[in-house]
Amino acid sequence: MIQNRVADLLPKRTLSPTAGCCSPSLAAAIGPFAWSVPSGGLSHANGRQGSDHANGRLWRPARRPAPGSGGRRLPRGGLAVSLASTMLAPIIGHDAVFERFRRALRRGRLASTFLFVGPAGIGKRLTAFRIAQSLLCETFPETALEACGECPACLMFQAGTHPDFTVIQKPSDRATIPLELFVGDREDRMQTGLCHAISLKPFRGGRKIAVIDDADYLNVEGANCLLKTLEEPPPRSLLILISTSEQKQLPTIRSRCQTVRFRPFATEELAQLIVAQGIVESPAEAATLAELANGSLQRARDLADSELRDFRAKLLKELPPFNWITLSLAKELAKVVEGAGKESAAKRGRFRLLIGFATDFYEQLMNGLVGAPMAGDKPLRAAVQAGLRAWPGTAETAADCLDTCLTMEGYIDQNANLGTLAECWLDELSDKARMPAIRPR
Ligand SMILES: [Zn+2]
Repeated sequence: MIQNRVADLLPKRTLSPTAGCCSPSLAAAIGPFAWSVPSGGLSHANGRQGSDHANGRLWRPARRPAPGSGGRRLPRGGLAVSLASTMLAPIIGHDAVFERFRRALRRGRLASTFLFVGPAGIGKRLTAFRIAQSLLCETFPETALEACGECPACLMFQAGTHPDFTVIQKPSDRATIPLELFVGDREDRMQTGLCHAISLKPFRGGRKIAVIDDADYLNVEGANCLLKTLEEPPPRSLLILISTSEQKQLPTIRSRCQTVRFRPFATEELAQLIVAQGIVESPAEAATLAELANGSLQRARDLADSELRDFRAKLLKELPPFNWITLSLAKELAKVVEGAGKESAAKRGRFRLLIGFATDFYEQLMNGLVGAPMAGDKPLRAAVQAGLRAWPGTAETAADCLDTCLTMEGYIDQNANLGTLAECWLDELSDKARMPAIRPR
C-alpha cells in the first residue's frame, strides 16, 4: 500500500505512526490530526526544540529582536506585507460577516472565539485581519468596525508591530503548527507563544487579538493547549481560527467557537477582483480564469500561470481513460513542479496544487457515480463525464482514489522526494483504477 512505500522515502522521525491510516470514505477525508508530528519530530539540528519561531511565524512584537540579532523572532517578510495590504485590498462579498460583528459589538456581546470556514482563497484571512485592525484602530469606535489606516494603532498594525495582535501560521516546512507557537519553547513554556500573548492585559487598553491562520494544521497537542484559552477566554480577548472546513477541527474546538461561514466568490465578482488585483489585465481573460477558479482568488492566481493550466488540461485528459503511462506522466509532473522555482516550499506548494486537480476529478467522479450533482468548471465536468463512461470500478473505488490523493497531499510536507512521490501516487491511482475487482482489501 502507498503508506508503506512512501514510508521508505520519509525521514523516520517525521512520519507519524498514524500517517496513512485514512478511511476509504469521503466523509473521513483526511484531517490534520492524522498528520500529527510526534514530539521528537520537532527537534532542530541544534538540539533545541522548535527554536525557530521566525520560521514558525509567531509574530510577537513585544519581544522584538535587537538590531543585528538576525530577526529570528519575526517572520521574514510576508506577514508585515500582508498586514499592510489589508488597508489597500478591497474586501468583496463578505459584508454580511462585518455586519454580524457590528451587530454583536453594538449589543456588547462579541464572542471571544470564532472559527472562519470556507474554501481557500476567498478572503477569510483578509477579513480576520481587517476586523482585528478595526477593533484596534484608535480613531473609530469599535462598533463602527472601521480602520482609519492613519492612527498610531493602525500604523503599528500595518507594520506588523502592534503589541496586542498575534498571528501564527504553519511553517512551510512543517506538517502541523508546532506546539511552541502556542506555549513557547521548552525552556520558557507559557512565557511566550499565542496562549501566553492573548492572556496578557492589552498594552494599549483595547483588546488582545490573535489569529490562527492555518487552523487546518492544528495537531492534537496544539488543540489541547488551546482548550484552556477557549474554555476561559481572557477578558477582552478575541481569537479567530481560520480553516477550510469545520470537519478539520476537533469537536472540542468546534463546540467552543462561533462558526462564521464564508461563501466562495460569484464568478462575476471574482472576475472583477482578478482585474482589480492585476492578476490579468484583460476582462475577457479574467472571465475565463474566474470560470476555472471555483470562486477562489487564490486558485485564480495559481491558474493564471499558463504552464500550470496546460498541465491541468493534460491531467484532465489523461485521468479519465485510466491508462496513463506512469513514468512519463510523473516526469512531466516533476517538470512542472520544478518550474515553481528553487525554493522547496514553492515546489511543494505547486505539487499540492497539481494533486488538488486530481482530487477535484475523483471527488466529482464519485459524485457522478452515486448520482449526486456535479460541481466544477467546464473542463473538469467534461473530464468527469468521460471518466464515468470508462470507469471500471465502483463509487467506493473512486473514493479510494480520492483518499490516495488526500493522503498524498499530507505526505508532501514530510520531506519525501517529490519525483518518487509522484510516481508512487500515479502508480497507486492506476492500480486502484485498473484492478478494482482483484485488489486485496
Ligand atoms: Zn486607525
